[in-house]
Amino acid sequence: MHKINIDTDLANILQTHSPSGQEYDYSSILGNVGSVVKDSIGNCICSINTSKNFRLLIEAHADEISLRVIYISDDGYIFFRQNGGVDPLQLIGQSVTILSDSGEITGVVGCKPMHIKRAEEYAKVPLIEDLFIDIGVCNGSSAKQLVKVGDYVVFSNNLKILNNNRISSKGIDNKVGVYILSRILKQINKDDLDICVYGVLSSQEEIGCRGANVAVQNIKPQMIMCIDTCVATDTPDISSNILGDIRLGRGVAIPLSTENSVRLIKEVEIIAKNGNIKYQTFLPHSVLGRNNTPTLQINGGGCEVLTLCIPCRYLHSSVEICDISDINAAISLAVRFIESLRV
Ligand SMILES: [Zn+2]
Repeated sequence: MHKINIDTDLANILQTHSPSGQEYDYSSILGNVGSVVKDSIGNCICSINTSKNFRLLIEAHADEISLRVIYISDDGYIFFRQNGGVDPLQLIGQSVTILSDSGEITGVVGCKPMHIKRAEEYAKVPLIEDLFIDIGVCNGSSAKQLVKVGDYVVFSNNLKILNNNRISSKGIDNKVGVYILSRILKQINKDDLDICVYGVLSSQEEIGCRGANVAVQNIKPQMIMCIDTCVATDTPDISSNILGDIRLGRGVAIPLSTENSVRLIKEVEIIAKNGNIKYQTFLPHSVLGRNNTPTLQINGGGCEVLTLCIPCRYLHSSVEICDISDINAAISLAVRFIESLRV
């Protein structure tokens, strides 16, 4: 029996399907805190206090890695390509959900039984085109009644509550960001705010940071906060001497990469220390950021950017793991930081 109860809103958000290009409509989640619009690229934008001149943009991408149907064979097997960074190795033996016009169609990515595999096949890394989805039909025409070319495919819902305040699910990247942003907007003291806040659940991050790029150019903020997951390095297969030391449960992770403002990092560190909020700093292993931050910085006219990350194990797999205390630390830190802004 697990001792923790996961927040219902977080559980619900984790179980939405939100592939890049067909993002889930999160308007209902943001609708009770400000005025919400969906733009034509799929961003869901909530604005608060728009009479104020200073605009803070808080962004979390709302899309998840996925696949798209490319071909349906005469036998009814479904072939696909990646829509975002999916590792073919992670797909074998998985349950997937096809988001079709007929509703959600469950399938599995099959694999050759080990009994009949030749020795050399064990050493072979599968290519995406070697894999196919079986939805249980007998032929192509039955499959085509349910599924069509272009349909989006996501990992099936599989939320689990683990020990030690941790959860595992598909799409933690970046559903936890969606949840954190919704909580920040709910919790900030709107009566006392000196600034205007735009909360953007952005589209199409996993296929090239497109939604954030459009949103930042339209909103023209003076300051940006980006919320996303980052690679946790606390598993036996990752070397901390190469990739740094980023641990679940050690707090919200603040990247020190160049696109983040040195001044804002110092400010949030002071706020975290004064408020006893757990945080950790790290230098991402790639000079180029792997999230929306560089796009937001450059296309936001070079204004100050701060990124808050939730450490996540097994990123871009169907069994990502994060720690709920890190999520709560990110919410507390962001709320205190925003309430401290005076212009
Ligand atoms: Zn992400």
